[in-house]
Amino acid sequence: MSRDEKRGHVYLVGAGPGALGLVTLRARQLIEQADVIVYDYLCNPEMLRWARGDAEKIYVGKSGSYHTIPQEEINAILTSRALAGKEVVRLKGGDPYVFGRGGEEAQILARSGIPFEVVPGVTSAIAVPSYAGIPVTHRDFASTVTFVTGHEDPAKPDSAIDWSWLARLSGTLVFLMGVERLRQITGRLIAEGADPATPAALVRWGTTAHQETLAGTLGTIADLVQERRFSPPAAIVIGDVVKLRSELNWYEALPLFGKRIVVTRTRGQAGVLAQRLVQLGADVLEIPTIRIVPVPSDAPMREKLTAFSNHFDWLVFTSPNAVDRFFAEFFQVASDLRDLGTVKIASLGPATTAKLQQLHLRVDLQPEIFTAEKLAEALAEKIMPGARICFPKGRLAATLVADRLQERGARVESWILYDTQPEKEDLGGARLRYQNEGAHFSIFTSSSTVEYWHAMQLQSEPDTPRPRAVSLGPITSATLRRLGYEIAAEAPESTLDSLVATMLKLSMESIP
Ligand code: SAH
Repeated sequence: MSRDEKRGHVYLVGAGPGALGLVTLRARQLIEQADVIVYDYLCNPEMLRWARGDAEKIYVGKSGSYHTIPQEEINAILTSRALAGKEVVRLKGGDPYVFGRGGEEAQILARSGIPFEVVPGVTSAIAVPSYAGIPVTHRDFASTVTFVTGHEDPAKPDSAIDWSWLARLSGTLVFLMGVERLRQITGRLIAEGADPATPAALVRWGTTAHQETLAGTLGTIADLVQERRFSPPAAIVIGDVVKLRSELNWYEALPLFGKRIVVTRTRGQAGVLAQRLVQLGADVLEIPTIRIVPVPSDAPMREKLTAFSNHFDWLVFTSPNAVDRFFAEFFQVASDLRDLGTVKIASLGPATTAKLQQLHLRVDLQPEIFTAEKLAEALAEKIMPGARICFPKGRLAATLVADRLQERGARVESWILYDTQPEKEDLGGARLRYQNEGAHFSIFTSSSTVEYWHAMQLQSEPDTPRPRAVSLGPITSATLRRLGYEIAAEAPESTLDSLVATMLKLSMESIP
C-alpha cells in the first residue's frame, strides 16, 4: 500500500447553494464513497442520504455566524481522520473557496502533508440571485460583478474593503453574510457617493423551496429588511440587474412554489414523486413512514415456484413492491425467466407495469382506470370459473381484489411476501422541519402510509400550517376518513401523473 493510500484523503467539496440538483457529479460520487462526512448548516442535509449507511456524519455548524465547533477543532477532525486512513469529505455550502474558510482548511491539509482534492461548487453568490430572476451580469446593465464579504464592519478604520471604490463601481455588487450589517453597508456606500435609487434585493434560502426575496433600493432596503424581520442567510444584490427580476423571475413563478408538501412513502419510492413536485417548485418534505421488510416464501410456495404454471393461470400484482418481492423469491428457485411458464399477468397500473417491463414481461391485463376495484372487475370478465390465481402482496395490502375474484369462483392464493414497518430514521431532517414549519398538504399513496403517519403522531408548532390530505385512491381515502383526516382531494386515478395533476389543480384553488 502506498503512503497516500494509507493516509486517506480530504476532499473539500462544494455543496452548492441549497437545491439538491445543483450539486456536482463529483461531489455526489465522493459523498457516496466517504468514510467520514463533515458538514455545516448551509449544506442541504438531504444529500447525506447519498452517503453509505455506516459513514460517520459530523455536523460542525449551526445557523448564524458562529460555529458550534471552533475552526481549530474542525481542522483537527479533518486531519486526524485522514491520518487514520479515512476518506473524508468536508462539505461546504456553495463553493469551498468563496468566503467559506476553505482556503485556510486547504492550507492546513497541505502543511500536514495530507493529500487533498478541491471540488468547486455552484456558489450562492451567483446561483441565489439567479433563482430570484437576477442575472449578475448583463450586457446592458452590468459588465462587472464583485463579491464582497458582509462580515467586515464598514465603520472599521482599517477595513480591508475599499468602500469608495465599491461605491463608484457601475456593475453588480453581491454581499454574502451581510444581513446583520446591512444598514452600515448601504449607509457607507451612499456616504461614498453611490446613488440611493440603485436597485437592491435580498434573497434568503435561495434555490431552495423556501426561498424569499425582498426588493427595494440602496436607500430603502435596510428599512424593509427591518420591517419584515428578514433573517439570514441571504445574498444581497445591488445594481441595475435587479430590475430584470420583473421579467426573469422563473423560479418563484413555478405553480407549486411556496407550497410545503409532505410525501409519505417508503424509502425507495418517494424519490420520483418528490422530484416531480420539486420541479414544480414545491418544498417537499420526504417523510418516510414505513420501510419494506421482506417476508421469505414458505416451503409450499417455493415448491409451487419451481413449476409455477402447473399451479397457476394468473399472476396478479397491485404494487411495484410485490413485483420486486415475487421475483426475488422466484429467482431463488429458478435460474431462467422462462421457468415462469405460460401464466398470464395482471397489473393494477403503470408503476407496477413499468416494474414488470424492466423484466421484459408483457402485461396481459391492466384496467383502464387504475384502481383495485377496476382491476378486479376487468379480471373477473376474463377468467374462467375455477381459474387459479397467485396474488403476491404485502401483509397490509387490501384484500379487495382477492375477495372479488373469489366471489366470482376463482381460486386465489394470496402470498404475503413483505411486511411494512414504521420508519424511525430522519436522515434528511424532514421530520424536524415538519415539526418546526408545518406543511400545506400531505400526500398519501396507500392505506398503510396513512396508518403509519397517524401512528407517528407528528405535531407541528402551533402557528404553522396544518396539512390537508391528498389521496391516491378510494381505499386510501377511506382509511383517511376513518382516522378523521380532512381530504383536500383524491387523485382520479392511482398514478403519479394523476396525483401531480391533482396537486396542480389544488394549488390554483388554494392560497396557503
Ligand atoms: N461558500 C459559500 C458562501 C459561504 S458564506 C458559497 O459559495 O455560496 C455564507 C453566506 O453565503 C451566507 O451568509 C449567505 O450570505 C450566503 N448563502 C449561502 N447559501 C445561501 C442561500 N441558499 N441563500 C442565500 N444566501 C446564501
